[in-house]
Amino acid sequence: MIRSITQFKPDEELDRLLEGCNRLFILGCGTCSTLTKTGGEAEVKTMAQTLTQKGKAVTGTFVAPVACDNLTAESLEHFGKMINLSDAILVMSCAYGVQTTARQLSKMVVPALDTLFIGKEDACGSFNEVCTQCGRCIIGETGGICPVITCHKGLVNGPCGGTDNGKCEIDKNIDCAWTRIYNRLDELEKLDLMKRYQALRNHNSAPSPGYYTL
Ligand code: SF4
Ligand code: SF4
Repeated sequence: MIRSITQFKPDEELDRLLEGCNRLFILGCGTCSTLTKTGGEAEVKTMAQTLTQKGKAVTGTFVAPVACDNLTAESLEHFGKMINLSDAILVMSCAYGVQTTARQLSKMVVPALDTLFIGKEDACGSFNEVCTQCGRCIIGETGGICPVITCHKGLVNGPCGGTDNGKCEIDKNIDCAWTRIYNRLDELEKLDLMKRYQALRNHNSAPSPGYYTL
């Protein structure tokens, strides 16, 4: 399953973000950040205890089923009084949940987490990035393996000079992305694709701010 992967912000950064916010409502997420143990019931409870020890008043807590869903605003209506009493909502979800909350409520929102990437759980508790949504997908020519996220340097036209016995020069514990791509194309009898030149990336293909219309 694909998830939005998050980690806790450093304590000093969170303390700075919460300066002047003495009453806080804490919102967690029952989906991605529950899975990554950064914003589920247990983490929200621990955060409430930590903030209380730091002298903050926690007006209430809620773990939304899916924080980035528009229904989160409806769910939060039940906590209207607590939220009104708060200086800010501390959101323990990925940036999608933080932005969804900010768009729907006239209340300061503070993210408790940093959003790292969209990842797939390959083993219990182990997540790997699968796509950075670069706007020009080339995996049809690389055997379904994405060099943009698999190669440490994001190289799209073959390996750098550091490949060592099939291992990456930056992390010798992992296979070089281009060794994997070569082996895969060899297996598929499509090695001729290695000769295909990938043009310089056109950043217009990944519009920023991102938009899409039918
Ligand atoms: S090339 Fe890689 S990062 Fe770009 S869209 Fe395809 S899978 Fe995603
Ligand atoms: S060794 Fe391979 S994976 Fe590592 S940076 Fe060079 S090309 Fe990329």
